Amino acid sequence: MSKYVIAIDQGTTSSRAIIFDHSGNIVSSGQKEHEQIFPKAGWVEHDPMEIWNNTREVIGNALSKVNLTRHDIAAVGITNQRETTVVWDKNTGEPVYNAIVWQDTRTQPIVDELAADGGVERFKSKVGLPLATYFSGTKVKWILDNVEGARAKAEAGDLLFGNTDSWITWHLTGGTEGGVHITDVTNASRTMFMDLETLSWDDEILKAFGVPRSMLPEIKSSSEVYGKVHGAQLLRETPVAGILGDQQAATFGQAAFEKGGAKNTYGTGNFLIVNTGEEIVRSENGLLTTVCYKLGDAKPVYALEGSIAVTGSLIQWLRDNLGFIKTAPEVEQLAKSVEDNGGVYVVPAFSGLFAPYWRGEARGAIVGLTRFVNKGHIARAALEATAFQTREVLDAANADAGVDMEDLRVDGGMVANDALMQFQADILGIPVVRPKVTETTALGAAYAAGLAVGFWSDTDELAANWSEDKRWLPSMDAAERDRQMRLWKKAVTRTFDWVD
Ligand code: ADP
Repeated sequence: MSKYVIAIDQGTTSSRAIIFDHSGNIVSSGQKEHEQIFPKAGWVEHDPMEIWNNTREVIGNALSKVNLTRHDIAAVGITNQRETTVVWDKNTGEPVYNAIVWQDTRTQPIVDELAADGGVERFKSKVGLPLATYFSGTKVKWILDNVEGARAKAEAGDLLFGNTDSWITWHLTGGTEGGVHITDVTNASRTMFMDLETLSWDDEILKAFGVPRSMLPEIKSSSEVYGKVHGAQLLRETPVAGILGDQQAATFGQAAFEKGGAKNTYGTGNFLIVNTGEEIVRSENGLLTTVCYKLGDAKPVYALEGSIAVTGSLIQWLRDNLGFIKTAPEVEQLAKSVEDNGGVYVVPAFSGLFAPYWRGEARGAIVGLTRFVNKGHIARAALEATAFQTREVLDAANADAGVDMEDLRVDGGMVANDALMQFQADILGIPVVRPKVTETTALGAAYAAGLAVGFWSDTDELAANWSEDKRWLPSMDAAERDRQMRLWKKAVTRTFDWVD
């Protein structure tokens, strides 16, 4: 029997392939960044062909580093940046336009147009999401409206739409030669087109968006054999058996299988997910309702989500646009060069504000500046912004769920930052807990695929693999915590109504 499962993690900044053993430990990995294309202010694109080529390359790297072959691999799992939209020609396999990335805000006029009839919550009771540039729906419409000939081709049934999970799966399973055009329920729940109760595409919404149903992938569970690899020689005939959007995959990798289980991922943005079991909880506090996972024929499990657009990418901005640091981890030293934030608050509303505000028109602000302030204070305030934003979505989740969370499981690139994690515990007033394997996104996808082929028997077995690495305990006094939150919220209001 094969001893490993491989996960492909097609992320916002890079594509990775990670091989896991039965205990959930990493055996080998390959990673490659792809270009971030910024054609105009607010526009963010990726080249889908570059992503597919990188995917094949990292699979090769991960296998060859440890001299494994396809015979050692029981299944392939896929996890991906959600919402990022690819439209391609099924006859040639060529994208008709670059991938429009989840952070891209070009579709605000489409949002406004659709919201003119019924407001931004027009489809929320069906899909769990407000109208926002974030989700795939307005991005597909933009491509059909703006790429020459796209609409006619789509109507003739020649174009396919997908998030990067569908794009990768179609290529992996053979592309123009029989590739399967599918997605899983978690990715589908981020398009704006799927009814949360029936788990199928909604014709009324598709009509409002003007998107032909023939473009859409078939919706599958998160864990079943979808097909076999034909598009990447090194893995040929290996079953592709699991797909989860990145945040749902991290929840799965953190073994948050119980109702009330939660995790917060600190990457390009931050994403808090709270498992609500078989119940569809409608947020009254600015959170999204989404599918957490669905294992084969079992009932779907739902979640509440607090999505924050900009956290780690604010550190990238300090590095790339302001030149404060050379690498992201250096921000910790710079932040520690001062005693506190010096009264400065950075609100990174670069793509408007996501949860819990959902204000597309907001733009970023640095407030509280005095002659005293230096780079260290701004770096510190930038890190603190992540913790403040997390506190706001956690408060919303507690209010929606009616119970307070006792601790917070964390993962993602920023959790290597000790100062941030301590400040996070301080500002939340509950412990913050990091597991041993922090590549929870890839691990979750591996788990979903491994379950489908019997490599793992059930979720209890997966939960037993989880183990704690480090715990940060809150040490700030309550009065100071409240003062900081009050000032943060005041700073947030300064970003509103900025776009004229
Ligand atoms: P993604 O999966 O969204 O591509 P990752 O989980 O790999 O992101 O995290 C990368 C992000 O974390 C980057 O935005 C980077 O700026 C930030 N980051 C990485 N290391 C640190 C650190 N030590 N302190 C603060 N931010 C960091």
